[in-house]
Amino acid sequence: MAFINIKPELKQDMSRLSDILNIPEPLLTSANLNADVGEFYFPGLHPQAGKDAPAAETYEQLQLLVNGEPGLENEPWLTDTVIYDSQTLKHEIEQIAECFPFVTYHIIGRSVLGQPIYELNIGAEHAEKRTHINASFHANEWITTSVLMKWVKEYCLSLCKGGEILGFSPLRLFQMTKLSIVPLVNPDGVDLVLNGPEHLGINLEPLDEMNEYQSEFREWKANINGVDLNNQFPSFWEIEKQRKPPKAPSYRDYPGDAPLTEPEAIVMHDLIESRPPDRLIALHTQGEEIYWGYEGFEPPESVNVVQVFERLSGYKGIRYIDSYAGFRDWFIHFYGKEGYTVELGKGKNPLPIADFDDIYCKSRGILWASCFFES
Ligand SMILES: [Zn+2]
Repeated sequence: MAFINIKPELKQDMSRLSDILNIPEPLLTSANLNADVGEFYFPGLHPQAGKDAPAAETYEQLQLLVNGEPGLENEPWLTDTVIYDSQTLKHEIEQIAECFPFVTYHIIGRSVLGQPIYELNIGAEHAEKRTHINASFHANEWITTSVLMKWVKEYCLSLCKGGEILGFSPLRLFQMTKLSIVPLVNPDGVDLVLNGPEHLGINLEPLDEMNEYQSEFREWKANINGVDLNNQFPSFWEIEKQRKPPKAPSYRDYPGDAPLTEPEAIVMHDLIESRPPDRLIALHTQGEEIYWGYEGFEPPESVNVVQVFERLSGYKGIRYIDSYAGFRDWFIHFYGKEGYTVELGKGKNPLPIADFDDIYCKSRGILWASCFFES
């Protein structure tokens, strides 16, 4: 990771560093939480910057070093629209953590085929609230990862730049809320949909059978075992098991032989159990709707929050739908906290990337608002 060598004494005064480098102090503090004594992590620089630079002995030298480096404003990867398979995502997460060292990431578990499942964390150490957002539970809804990652980059850049977006102060959100982001819950499934089965290195016959011998895998929704990960959670799972048409692994809708049999579902379950958030957002497609209730277990504040989401997106809030055993369902049921499924876009899955700009324009406000809590 890129850092600047610095005389350790200079780091004692983060407030002064913040002033002379023109970066908010909470970002600097967060970026340097795990830094070694002579390392200084500075958000918003190109990853190459500072790597072999001489140690800064004074504040003035540090200022010169930082000012001499190119900023990130014109880096296309920060604003481009990207389609993410597991490799593309891995690469970009590393880039984000390099450029914005207040973002941390780790591998919370692995898919059936051993692909890492990443969690990103953004937020001040003492932030009191927690929001969790995930994308691509369903393989053919991979565009949700594109939306979430675009917003993560928008959030990081705007934290460094300052100012307000849609009436929110990014820095205030950073200090208010710790964000947990799992951008790709189902990496095997997404790799299958985007790249085809040949690259997976597995026996294709069972895949073809689960795919009902369709010529393409574009509509594959399940994980690579043919289990619908969003039908795997222990909240009235038996109802889904009984009524879902597939009685064996399938490209869509099979709830598994029991709750939580699949590694991806277990990872998400354990993540929530270890650090239950105050609010959970699950990104899916499609319908331009926001599901916010579940069997009356939802907390009273959900009705106000969904109104904010509706106003910012133009999407329609829906309290109850006839569905059980989902990740969000289980979360609301067992924790009694806010959970929202946001159904992005309209059409037939997989939604084409040509729809991206419209989807992003409508949904980004929900992502901003998801970090804001009324005090
Ligand atoms: Zn879905």
